[in-house]
Amino acid sequence: MRGKLFVISAPSGTGKTTILKKVMAENRGLAFSVSHTTRSPRAGEINGLDYYFVTNDDFREMITQDAFLEWAQVHDNFYGTSRGEVEKELEKGRDVVLDIDIQGARLIREKTGGDCCSVFIAPPSSEELRERLGGRGSESEKSLKIRLENSLEEMKDADRYDYLIVNDRLEEAVRVMTAIILAERSRQRRDPDGTPVQFNL
Ligand code: 5GP
Repeated sequence: MRGKLFVISAPSGTGKTTILKKVMAENRGLAFSVSHTTRSPRAGEINGLDYYFVTNDDFREMITQDAFLEWAQVHDNFYGTSRGEVEKELEKGRDVVLDIDIQGARLIREKTGGDCCSVFIAPPSSEELRERLGGRGSESEKSLKIRLENSLEEMKDADRYDYLIVNDRLEEAVRVMTAIILAERSRQRRDPDGTPVQFNL
């Protein structure tokens, strides 16, 4: 049985990366799709683990070769999901988590005819978002302003998603995300660890 696509979007500064890392660690049978990006690595980010950090030329070449399932310009950088990697995992029956922006999510919904599970993670309030974005310390004033404006704009897409999680408390958000994954797997008659359920009538 093919795996399922989980599309997760959240405005910057929502705590999505932390939630996803915990969810990935606590649930078996999930593969994280490592995107390609033209942005520079932040402190602590590892090439091949957080992203594949590539040049603009490399990225353009991949577009030409139709290597992306979807790609988008977010803020002032390019980001793309590798078609080959995702396909390989789905074929193996593993569920794949895509951490992508609202443009990418729209494209994936279109391409799969809605055969994916989409989750939007929202901050508890715009004040909290501003604080979290400011606290990251890696952004210039200009890029902070762009991110905040984009984040507020992205919130408008929240109701297009199958599920909404408000990240008020980290542990609770992780619990809800895990519940969503388990519920979606049961919908497809899968065990909680992702393997298809065997049953005899
Ligand atoms: P960041 O630079 O903070 O890591 O990511 C910025 C935004 O780009 C986030 O909303 C993230 O979900 C999105 N993003 C990361 N990878 C991809 C991708 O492959 N495709 C799309 N469309 N968005 C992505």
